[in-house]
Amino acid sequence: MRVLAIAAFLCASLPAVTVQGQHTLDIVENNGLSENRIDLVIMGDGYTSGEQQDFASDAQNAIDHLFLKWPSNQYREFFNIVTISTASNESGADHPSMSEFADTFYDCAYDCAGLEHLICCDYSTILSVAGAQYPAHDVVVLMVNDQQYGGSGGTVAIASISPVAKDIPFHEFGHTIAGLGDEYDSPYPGYVCEDIFPNISFTSDRDDLKWNHWVNEDTPLPTPESAAVNNLEPVGAYEGACYQTVGLFRPVDECVMRSLNNDFCAVCTEQMVLSYYGFVEPVDTYSPSQNSHDGVFGDSIEFVVEAVEPDPNTLTYTWDLDGELLSWSDSADLEFLFKCVDQGEHQLTVTVSDLTSMVMVDTKNLMTTSVSWTITRTDDGPVDDCDDLNAGVDACPDGGDNPEKSGCGCHTIPARRTLISSLLALLFL
Ligand SMILES: [Zn+2]
Repeated sequence: MRVLAIAAFLCASLPAVTVQGQHTLDIVENNGLSENRIDLVIMGDGYTSGEQQDFASDAQNAIDHLFLKWPSNQYREFFNIVTISTASNESGADHPSMSEFADTFYDCAYDCAGLEHLICCDYSTILSVAGAQYPAHDVVVLMVNDQQYGGSGGTVAIASISPVAKDIPFHEFGHTIAGLGDEYDSPYPGYVCEDIFPNISFTSDRDDLKWNHWVNEDTPLPTPESAAVNNLEPVGAYEGACYQTVGLFRPVDECVMRSLNNDFCAVCTEQMVLSYYGFVEPVDTYSPSQNSHDGVFGDSIEFVVEAVEPDPNTLTYTWDLDGELLSWSDSADLEFLFKCVDQGEHQLTVTVSDLTSMVMVDTKNLMTTSVSWTITRTDDGPVDDCDDLNAGVDACPDGGDNPEKSGCGCHTIPARRTLISSLLALLFL
């Protein structure tokens, strides 16, 4: 958080860094190299040259709201954020059904596909400006300077500035970043829902439910709305989703993918967090960067990994030597003592995993990264019993399991850690 606060302070005083033609790029937040961050671009349409200050404040409001709620509030360091302001000739957006038209740069219009609240824009121009101004962009949100409720998701998340719908960017974020489907059941004539959304099921059968790992055994399936104790619980299979009232199922009664002014349900939250890890690897850098090291009795090497940490930090660090779990460290650094190993080649591996309770199943193993070094002890001197050296190498005598011993430099380990550690040990055997 300290790094974030400093970055935010620095950025608050940054001027516009690029002015090209009629587009201005401002860096709002820089949390790391684009290669390992989600580069979020906020753009605007229907803001005249005299309304650029409005765009700046609307964009900031959208950013504030996007990062107010979970899971993005815990993963803000995973994002770089910029704005690109663009002057339109006229204010607002097209409303073809009312024969109202505005000459705007990205030509945004309501009534898309005959739906009053669906906004479509000139996507190729949006993406070409984003690409020219900020080639590293991953996610684009376009704010439409119009008070009428509306938006759309897809390649670009589009949201009006309707005061009753601050959640639109949040909802569209779900489409754009995590590929979530709408959980509405209001009909959308002609739309055929495909079975491609992680939060929409074509069956309520427990075995075939995509999110059955979130469903308690005593939750009835399909789940009647009367069984809901609140908007988000229990997770089940509620009929009505993806613009169909029957035959399609959603995970909870009222997720933000169904109605605004809600939160993401557990199923959508899990997909959001997994989607972050589609862009960001847990480990940013590590040192030493060389992968092979030689040494003799008396030598030591400090190994360090720099990880992208959620807030609160749910990362765990597991170090193993030749497949055996090391109790020397459960943090981002480890002092390796050559006297603790015998002559020859050894493999030291650190595995960094996010054990957030928001994700139960990570089939692609996106939330884990391992880094390995080959370490060779070249002398045939004595080998110390390093179980006795724990206190001397900045670790806890109990291996870090006892939070009461945090004073000695160890970390409280989440309950799942023990199991994961055991599994890792098994995997490496
Ligand atoms: Zn949901």
